[in-house]
Amino acid sequence: MANLTQGYIRRGLYIGRFQPYHLGHQAVLRKISEEVAEIVIVIGSAQSSHTMENPFTAGERIAMIYEALSDLRNRCYVIPLEDVQRNAVWVSHLISMVPRFDTVYSNNLLVVQLFSEVGIVVRKPPMFRRDVYSGTAIRKLMLDGGNWRNLVPVPVASVIEEIDGVTRLANIFEEDSTQ
Ligand code: NAD
Repeated sequence: MANLTQGYIRRGLYIGRFQPYHLGHQAVLRKISEEVAEIVIVIGSAQSSHTMENPFTAGERIAMIYEALSDLRNRCYVIPLEDVQRNAVWVSHLISMVPRFDTVYSNNLLVVQLFSEVGIVVRKPPMFRRDVYSGTAIRKLMLDGGNWRNLVPVPVASVIEEIDGVTRLANIFEEDSTQ
């Protein structure tokens, strides 16, 4: 837990869509937790759900992250953020919605570009087994009846099962295929 008497609290910001939150995200967050006192986790594209790319709502993604990080000692703020039409104003939109932060952690090229342009420090965490720990790959496994459960933290699999997420994805796929 951060020591509030120190006055200045080092905060890192990690942004993602987390569709779904997986073990690659978890590994990055554990690494960040060693570097900063507090973590601002921003759930991007918060307005999107029930699509092939973004099957889960912001609320469901919040639940996944809180459950997965319940043992982390750092304070974590999990904040949903809607996209804006203009990339040029996205960083100021984000800043207006989250607590102050010192460093951004991202490997998303557009995110890195937009923060770097306004002089915010961006660190690129190492990728963990990107071939398997990938939202796209996990959503495909869900559709194909493959083993997606061992690619997400155990509590995340429980959240997805609780909301019958695999059936939702299959229904969205079927709906898209008939159009
Ligand atoms: P994501 O969930 O795909 O990834 C989140 C982070 O985890 C990324 O930095 C990614 O590189 C990293 N990651 C993924 N797999 C990993 C692995 N195996 N090991 C280690 N790290 C891994 O989310 P994303 O697409 O990067 O999210 C960016 C969000 O920012 C989106 O919601 C996007 O819409 C939003 N955004 C919006 C605007 C706008 O509204 N104009 C502009 C820029 C970005």
